[in-house]
Amino acid sequence: MSDLHGLYQEVILDHNKKPRNFRKMEGASCHADGYNPLCGDKVTIYVKMEGDRIRDLSFQGSGCAISTASASLLTETLKGKTRAEAEALFEKFHGLVTGKEPKNGKDPQLGKLAVFSGVSEYPARVKCATLVWHTLRSALNESGEVASTE
Ligand code: ZN
Repeated sequence: MSDLHGLYQEVILDHNKKPRNFRKMEGASCHADGYNPLCGDKVTIYVKMEGDRIRDLSFQGSGCAISTASASLLTETLKGKTRAEAEALFEKFHGLVTGKEPKNGKDPQLGKLAVFSGVSEYPARVKCATLVWHTLRSALNESGEVASTE
């Protein structure tokens, strides 16, 4: 884990220790499971839709600090967003963690998600950060498939 030096910023540590919306949701509109075999991260995401808008989000799972914090921050960030807004944020987030977007999270729409900008220096960790996003996408598409980072 020494390659993570400098990556565990305070926000990530906090969300790993006290994940937000960490619970099973009764009456979810859709849910999906995700798995990152490279690291062993597992996540289940629950979504409650109201029309085209995400009314509530929660997750359960076990994984490394990056994957847990990413899931926690995703649930906070995407509540109240539409499908299209969630998809647009996924694109921005993916750009951020793969280093294609400007560093330091200058895009104000990313908000707290900008703390993951450091992940771009650790390619093996990109999948930890994006797992929950892939899982959300498969929940929203109701594909019924287990999302995998492979
Ligand atoms: Zn991981």
